[in-house]
Amino acid sequence: MIKLVSLFSGSSGNCVFLSDGTTRVLVDAGLSGKRIESALAEVGERPSDLSAILVTHEHSDHTMGIGVLARRYKMPIHASSGTWEALGKVPGKLAPEQKCIFTTGQRFRVGDVEVEPFGIPHDAAEPVGYSFYLQGRKVTVATDLGHMSRSLLRNLEGSDLVLLESNHDISMLKMGRYPWPLKQRILGDQGHLCNDMAGKVVAHLVQNGTKCVLLGHLSQENNFPELAWQTAANALAEKNLMPGEGFHMEVARRDRTSSIVWMDGERVWSEAVGFAGLPPEQIGLPGLMGLNGDLNQSGMENMIGNTPSILKVAEEP
Ligand SMILES: [Zn+2]
Ligand SMILES: [Zn+2]
Repeated sequence: MIKLVSLFSGSSGNCVFLSDGTTRVLVDAGLSGKRIESALAEVGERPSDLSAILVTHEHSDHTMGIGVLARRYKMPIHASSGTWEALGKVPGKLAPEQKCIFTTGQRFRVGDVEVEPFGIPHDAAEPVGYSFYLQGRKVTVATDLGHMSRSLLRNLEGSDLVLLESNHDISMLKMGRYPWPLKQRILGDQGHLCNDMAGKVVAHLVQNGTKCVLLGHLSQENNFPELAWQTAANALAEKNLMPGEGFHMEVARRDRTSSIVWMDGERVWSEAVGFAGLPPEQIGLPGLMGLNGDLNQSGMENMIGNTPSILKVAEEP
């Protein structure tokens, strides 16, 4: 069974957990080791069970905790050669076998999982997104995207689960208090993906079979979760698609874990954290995604996790 959780997402730190039940990886570890350890515990995972950390690029919101975790739990870190070079001394002292270098565009394996790192347009040395092939499914994590290109879209297509950047609302950014050069950087081709483009991409992916979308890496200054969610929901509505009806959409938060997304064959469902680590079968609750379209879920409720009402925990939107 596949398990995906965004532990943290945003400019203050990024970390995604993915497992097939045997192999467990983190995509990025951009917070302190301590915070990542406690987030893992919240979702029923032990850092000592991790197989590897896969780094997207050298920016500190993706790498702050990699050295600590790798040393403490003796696991390898995978990154492109450009990223390793740009990281310099950041990860601290690692054993040579912990420093794994991949070639962007070439698949490699971590345990049972096949990993495909693909190049992304971002102002870093050699940044990548990742597609994972596990149990016959495809899971893709793609944030820090300056723009969407045909080749990037091809990497996202065919994914059952996607974590996609929805960084900012263009008007909020333009009207906001960021200095002009920073605005230009974010809006530029090597910056971050706006809500409108993320929405278009999400609609395209869902139309082509994607079952679960997490919108991530939201700007604290130039976005808010409701806006990111609604922008994508509007793009989906244009194609007569509605979250909760055949697919799940949720905003990955900066300071807390997303719901746990499970996938078993064709079945995808999400589970509010709080029943950490237990799939719905084990806690005897109906968690099947798509069954909850009739639970009177407003956009806001959907946003915090498309969970059946009995599973719903007290959580502000
Ligand atoms: Zn970055
Ligand atoms: Zn980032």
